[in-house]
Amino acid sequence: MFPRKSGVKLPHLKSTAAMPPVRLGVPAEVIIPMSMSIGKPAVPTVKPKDHVNVGTLIAESAGPVSAPIHSGVSGTVKKVDTILSSNGSYCQAVVIESDGLQTVDEGIRPPVVTDYASFIEAVRNSGIVGLGGAGFPTAVKLDVKDTSKIEYLILNGAECEPFITSDNRTMLDTPDDIKEGVRLFEKYLDVKKIIIGIEGNKPEAIKKMTEVFADDAGVTVKTLPESYPQGGEKVLIYTTTGRVVPAGKLPLDVGCVVVNVTTIATIARYVKTGMPLVEKCVTVDGTAVKKPQNVIAPIGTPVSELLKFCEADEEAIGKVLYGGPMMGIAIPDPDTAPVLKTTNGITVLNEKDGYKPEATQCIHCGRCALHCPMNLSPLEISRAYENKNVELIRDLRVDICFECGTCSYVCPARRPLVEINKLSKVLVRELNAKEKQKEAEKK
Ligand code: SF4
Ligand code: SF4
Repeated sequence: MFPRKSGVKLPHLKSTAAMPPVRLGVPAEVIIPMSMSIGKPAVPTVKPKDHVNVGTLIAESAGPVSAPIHSGVSGTVKKVDTILSSNGSYCQAVVIESDGLQTVDEGIRPPVVTDYASFIEAVRNSGIVGLGGAGFPTAVKLDVKDTSKIEYLILNGAECEPFITSDNRTMLDTPDDIKEGVRLFEKYLDVKKIIIGIEGNKPEAIKKMTEVFADDAGVTVKTLPESYPQGGEKVLIYTTTGRVVPAGKLPLDVGCVVVNVTTIATIARYVKTGMPLVEKCVTVDGTAVKKPQNVIAPIGTPVSELLKFCEADEEAIGKVLYGGPMMGIAIPDPDTAPVLKTTNGITVLNEKDGYKPEATQCIHCGRCALHCPMNLSPLEISRAYENKNVELIRDLRVDICFECGTCSYVCPARRPLVEINKLSKVLVRELNAKEKQKEAEKK
């Protein structure tokens, strides 16, 4: 059964939970990648020497699963360049020199939203993607055509990764935006049952959401167990509704739509002001950070600016990650890696915590399988990977692994299980494509 009650107890390390966000000064330059969400990279609409303002469209979406991009600073386009992203692939980026004035684009005005279609169109134009880290264009997720299929709207306030507290701050600092977002969903998507799932380690947020929604009988605030990974979409659906999303199916197939709490607040702000997604609240924390903080920065701000602002100890840094220590992606060069639409945390670990010990022989303890929330057997997948048996990897359903990192975390032999799963997924995709091509050639 996928998923199941499992997971692991982690230290929360949420030292910034009580800290309202502070604004970073305007960076001298922003590097805005055209690929910041799942789907096709956006297509730049600006060229060198163009002047842009805050909220100016700088790239349009390149198809149904893509999202437009807007500038978070006012200034001049320096270049449209190719950059190496942290996932190892090259993508285009618009580099803008800021003039420091933060002049707002004069075309910014609230969208006219009167019905389901205009609401979806507004979400599409806002450039909003899943802000919990998934990066799926939100308009695509909500464009369900038949809204009667949505039985539950589940707001993801789990924020189960250690260190990160930006969603917690959204719930505490801008609860009215979340409430307005819920009202929009109730009105335009005809959602009647809303569950806000929050991990039990955020009592203040649970209290705030309970107070704010006390007058809405459709909303339930559910305290989630303090067991990682409560924020995984399928895990959250199971914990809040008892429903199981079958392998290969979508949440909507079991009547659910899951939206992150910061995403819904950002939608509400866009509908109110017309300002698209141009900045992010990012938790900067970790064992090499002297002054952990929640920082609001324009999208495209070099990560190194945030590290300076939070007094990361350059001598001590062993590893810098986009996201938390469980699912985070390593940043090779913080000077060239920017804050992305999906960045909710930057974790900076010292040499000791960033060190990855040598893997030793598997001792067949079974912990990786026991703790996997998707009921997978990471050990068997890694064996099949070593034997280059891609059919078996596929049969072992590596496709439903959502890379939560629990298996690697609990493995006493420090086997690189999640890394092997990522590589295995690539092999399965290649095999599927080959088979599809063969089928097509037969016809
Ligand atoms: S990374 Fe994948 S295989 Fe490992 S515990 Fe998480 S879901 Fe299971
Ligand atoms: S947790 Fe590690 S040592 Fe234990 S069975 Fe899995 S791979 Fe082997």
